[in-house]
Amino acid sequence: MRKDTDVAIIGSGFSAVALALNLIELAPPTARVSLVGARERQGRGIAYVTTADCHRLNVPAGRMSLFADRPAHFTHWLVENGHAATADDFVPRGLYGDYVGDCLDAALKRTANRAVLTLVDAEALHAQALADGGLLFQLSDGSELAAGISALCTGAGTGRLPLPDEAIAEEVRPFIVQNPWMEPWWDRMPEDGDVLFVGTGLTMVDQCLLLVRNGFRGRFHAVSRNGLLPEAHLGHRADPLPPVLEPGRGEVSDMLATLRAAATATPDWRAAMDGLRPITQQLWKSWTPGQQRRFLRHAAPFWNVHRHRMAPAVAAEIATLRETGRLVVHRGGLQALKSEEKGIAATVQGKVLSAAMVVNCTGFERCTVTASPLLSSLAAQGIVEPDPIGLGIAVDDNSAVPVSEGRLYALGPLTAGRHFEITAVPDIRVQARAVAGRIAAGVAA
Ligand SMILES: Cc1cc2nc3c(=O)[nH]c(=O)nc-3n(C[C@H](O)[C@H](O)[C@H](O)COP(=O)(O)OP(=O)(O)OC[C@H]3O[C@@H](n4cnc5c(N)ncnc54)[C@H](O)[C@@H]3O)c2cc1C
Repeated sequence: MRKDTDVAIIGSGFSAVALALNLIELAPPTARVSLVGARERQGRGIAYVTTADCHRLNVPAGRMSLFADRPAHFTHWLVENGHAATADDFVPRGLYGDYVGDCLDAALKRTANRAVLTLVDAEALHAQALADGGLLFQLSDGSELAAGISALCTGAGTGRLPLPDEAIAEEVRPFIVQNPWMEPWWDRMPEDGDVLFVGTGLTMVDQCLLLVRNGFRGRFHAVSRNGLLPEAHLGHRADPLPPVLEPGRGEVSDMLATLRAAATATPDWRAAMDGLRPITQQLWKSWTPGQQRRFLRHAAPFWNVHRHRMAPAVAAEIATLRETGRLVVHRGGLQALKSEEKGIAATVQGKVLSAAMVVNCTGFERCTVTASPLLSSLAAQGIVEPDPIGLGIAVDDNSAVPVSEGRLYALGPLTAGRHFEITAVPDIRVQARAVAGRIAAGVAA
């Protein structure tokens, strides 16, 4: 069966819902908007599907409104729904998923004089170009959807273990968790077994706290090349400094030296870091591809741990786990995985660590076109291509796919090659509003 729509939004995470909600506000009332993605994940995506209370937002509630022009929208929702939280609180991520889901449900009910929003509970498997410039999507429920304008909100992929696939023997595979967000992997864990987390970022932190909550008694090893863990937010946020860098001025290394000096001279270095938020995308865009690559190679791990921080309560718990020796952080590369009696023997920088399971916490891998059948089908027709840096797909400053003449957009981490900092809600909501405005104008034309 084939259906037609004016706009198809592909994805079920924050980006897709933020775009849909902005679009139905801006598009003409006659417009038909279809949101294509798994119903039970709508609005939650990877980040907000968790129901564990220990999985906290890493941004205070006051900065997490769905709408950039209504900053108190989320905090009002919290109060209206009986949650005693303030704008400075780091609330559970599942609660945030409830908020996004509630806003979506309300929008689906409010149909009078509004563009019509329809949920399509399916995955978009492939797409092909139509003669009129639109796209025809083949969906997992066997139907087809033809859209005049489309938006890809399919998120970043999950990282792969930093070992070549052929170096991972068949017998160790059952003890490896490739994507901890997609399965209750601890069901396969002995209660007193040790775990090796590959990656020391926010994903590792989340998985570690979950094991503690679930009563596991083993030790946690975490390994990454630099052994850096995310820094902590403070309970009280210092006012951001005016930006200490200027886009287009100086080499990457000089700029970072300036930032380091400013951070050191400030009572709370976070104020210098936070002051850069409004201009981070401009900074990135002011660099040549060579400079961007140098930044990713040498500075991104340091940037990320200072920029994407742990909620204070989470940081305190992780600190205790480290002090008591429950969590041991190793610096170095993962070199080999072999099977042994109780699970896996992992070689890290020449040292052998035993674990019942190895959990891939390399977190966000930037989306590779080949990881998604949908993106692959679009790439095979020359409609999308990877961005030159390899962080996602190529889009222009308006988040439009260049050859599409305003008929295909992408949002969220998929557009990191162009915008760089486009993974957190405060950045994506701005992008969603801007893209919704362009799509609305395209539908009206
Ligand atoms: C664990 C975690 C915690 C985070 N915490 C915070 C936080 O506290 N604050 C903050 O500001 N940001 C946070 N972020 C970052 C941010 O909110 C996410 O990056 C953001 O949710 C990205 O949303 P997205 O919709 O682009 O991608 P995703 O969340 O990845 O969602 C994409 C969805 O689309 C679906 N999909 C993919 N392909 C198709 C297809 N072909 N057809 C249909 N559906 C498809 C996927 O299954 C997935 O559900 C966090 C991110 C993660 C991973």
